[in-house]
Amino acid sequence: LLSLAGATVRFDGRPVLDRVDLEVAEHEIVCVLGPSGSGKSTLLRAVAGLQSLDAGRVSLDGRDQAAVPAHKRGVGLMFQDHQLFPQRDVGGNVAFGARMHGASKGEQAERVRELLDLVGLPGAARRAVASLSGGEQQRVALARALAPRPRLLMLDEPLGQLDRSLRERLVVELRELFGRLGTTVLAVTHDQGEAFALADRVVVMRDGRIAQSGTPLEVWQRPVDEFVARFLGFDN
Ligand code: ATP
Ligand code: MG
Repeated sequence: LLSLAGATVRFDGRPVLDRVDLEVAEHEIVCVLGPSGSGKSTLLRAVAGLQSLDAGRVSLDGRDQAAVPAHKRGVGLMFQDHQLFPQRDVGGNVAFGARMHGASKGEQAERVRELLDLVGLPGAARRAVASLSGGEQQRVALARALAPRPRLLMLDEPLGQLDRSLRERLVVELRELFGRLGTTVLAVTHDQGEAFALADRVVVMRDGRIAQSGTPLEVWQRPVDEFVARFLGFDN
């Protein structure tokens, strides 16, 4: 479905994505791990079309996306800093995603209800965004990202502000949901436990490069180098 070949992004001459090659197959759930500043968000933005490449290629279904604007790529992106619409209520935010992709009014209402239930905010549709806690806003942003049911969904720290018990519950439910909808997922997380529970494959980034890519078990049992081992916490 998704293919990056030699994808490179430079800021002030410094490569932030450095010749990244990555393939994501249809229905695969890939989690990207890596230290702060290693280029994870830049990777997602490049795939979404919000960041142009200085070299290399992003392809979807084998088609080069260089000339395809973000809104025509058919991919969804939930930002790290969620960016809800403050002037719309919770239901309006979630419906926005569905509306953009041509769902009928009835479908929209049904999907809003279903998604708010999923993220643990049933009955919150008429609440003002400003009245929600940070974690609640993050859950609304997740619901909004899921609403259009994109083929490729990219999530940047989707559960970052949530407490552990909620994360653990949502990870299980999201995995089930992605399987049911056949959604392909590329998700960034800081939380290894989350990555290992959610992902078919884990990609570890370092300084704009992919240090290792493999199943959670492979990466866990056979980290390729000391950096990956340290990052996974084997030194403590
Ligand atoms: P975090 O875990 O903190 O979110 P990240 O892995 O998502 O980190 P990126 O946001 O991809 O990291 O940034 C990678 C590097 O690129 C960082 O050093 C950042 O300062 C730099 N960078 C990102 N965007 C820009 C920009 N627009 N201009 C200049 N430098 C940038
Ligand atoms: Mg980031």
